[in-house]
Amino acid sequence: MKKKPIVCIIGRPNVGKSTLFNRIAKKRIAIVEDIPGVTRDRNYHDVEWEDKEFTIVDTGGFESETGKGSLEASMVEQTGIAAAEADRVIFLLDGQTGPIADDFAIMDMLRRHEKPVYIAVNKIDAPSHEKILLDFYQLGVDEVFPVSAAHGRGVDDLLDTVTEGFASTAHQDSPEEIDEDSIPIKVAIVGRPNVGKSSLVNKICGENRVVASEVPGTTRDTIHTPVRREGRDFILLDTAGIRRKSKAYSENLERYSVFRSITAIEEAHVVILMLDATEGITDQDLKVASYAWEAGKPIIIAVNKWDLVAKETMTYREFEKDIEHRFKFSTKPIILFISALSGQRVVKLFDLARSLYEKTRFRVNTNELNELIQSATAKHAPPAAHTGGKRLKFYYVTQISRHPFIIVIFCNYPDSVHFSYKRYLTNVVREAYSLYNVPVILKFRKRA
Ligand code: GDP
Ligand code: GDP
Repeated sequence: MKKKPIVCIIGRPNVGKSTLFNRIAKKRIAIVEDIPGVTRDRNYHDVEWEDKEFTIVDTGGFESETGKGSLEASMVEQTGIAAAEADRVIFLLDGQTGPIADDFAIMDMLRRHEKPVYIAVNKIDAPSHEKILLDFYQLGVDEVFPVSAAHGRGVDDLLDTVTEGFASTAHQDSPEEIDEDSIPIKVAIVGRPNVGKSSLVNKICGENRVVASEVPGTTRDTIHTPVRREGRDFILLDTAGIRRKSKAYSENLERYSVFRSITAIEEAHVVILMLDATEGITDQDLKVASYAWEAGKPIIIAVNKWDLVAKETMTYREFEKDIEHRFKFSTKPIILFISALSGQRVVKLFDLARSLYEKTRFRVNTNELNELIQSATAKHAPPAAHTGGKRLKFYYVTQISRHPFIIVIFCNYPDSVHFSYKRYLTNVVREAYSLYNVPVILKFRKRA
């Protein structure tokens, strides 16, 4: 697969790099931020901006490691890393202090590296703060982007410009270019330690008589296991090995497994969330599931060790009801009761994964989609709030991706679309294309 372009945020300490980074990678951070020890690993994050995918590098994390003593050395190191690895650099400055000597030093270093550099001045929380922007042109640059990482102001414009020219995912998977069936379906197997992830992978590989070449993920420790079933290729992504590798994190094992799960989920088309039938579903599981769902990945809940549970029909239904009750973010979840040990219903997982994957295989006809949204908004006009009395207008709708299924609606006040209205439109799309059990992601973007 083609490498994603790398964007690096650099700048002095305290200008707001982490804040900006968190804003750009917001979903993921929300779940990993409180995992001690893990943040240090967190140098690279794949993010998506509209239909562009790129990797963002968090140089903020290096600071603590380069020592507090030498600011200059730390800057050199950061800039060196940025220049060596990044395709584009966001140079973040502090709009409260104005440019200082260190900033000019960084700018000089960046010039020598000849990378495209975007100058973003942070902490411009209101238009009245913009006066200071002129001072930053002293750095000898043509354009300065005012942003407020803390409030989100200006970040859209910055990202629009920074990602200009990056390959569009909307074209990457167009049918002319690749044979759909030759793309393996990537299935992440996630769950808390000891639920039976390794047992499941072992069972699968045994039964399908495939050479299970376990290729350890290079940077992320997700194990990739290719499997072929009924003429279709799959890649199992699992995080089972973490117990051995995680001595340093033993007390945070569960939380660490969440972090690992996330990297597997991000790479996957479909997610199998494994539970232990003797334990039920935990908050941790729900967190992971909700992360997967929001990232647009369909979920299969595999309740493992079913062989240990008494088989009265009531137990089964009770279990299901409990999951359904707590699984609020999705439509009725898909639940399969399995035994990784005996192999009971394990092959069914593949059929389900394949059918979920194929549900979003198609490309929606754009005219049809626009008509659908038009008639939905005609039926129920969007409530106008925080638009300064103006009417909320939707201009144009387009599908930007299939796996996950993402639709972008261009409108005049994207931030004013109420979540309940978003949910209404999401359901309209879901119904129209029978997208049950797969996440439908609707994004609103500004067009004046
Ligand atoms: P880093 O050291 O460059 O990663 O900076 P941080 O992201 O840790 O931010 C440093 C400080 O600036 C924190 O106290 C943030 O709350 C604050 N900060 C970050 N962004 C903004 C912003 O947009 N506006 C204001 N007013 N403060 C900000
Ligand atoms: P992982 O940490 O999620 O990879 O879990 P393992 O695959 O290492 O399994 C943890 C323990 O649960 C092992 O002792 C397995 O033998 C046991 N186990 C896994 N699947 C099943 C199952 O379906 N039934 C029973 N009874 N035990 C199981």
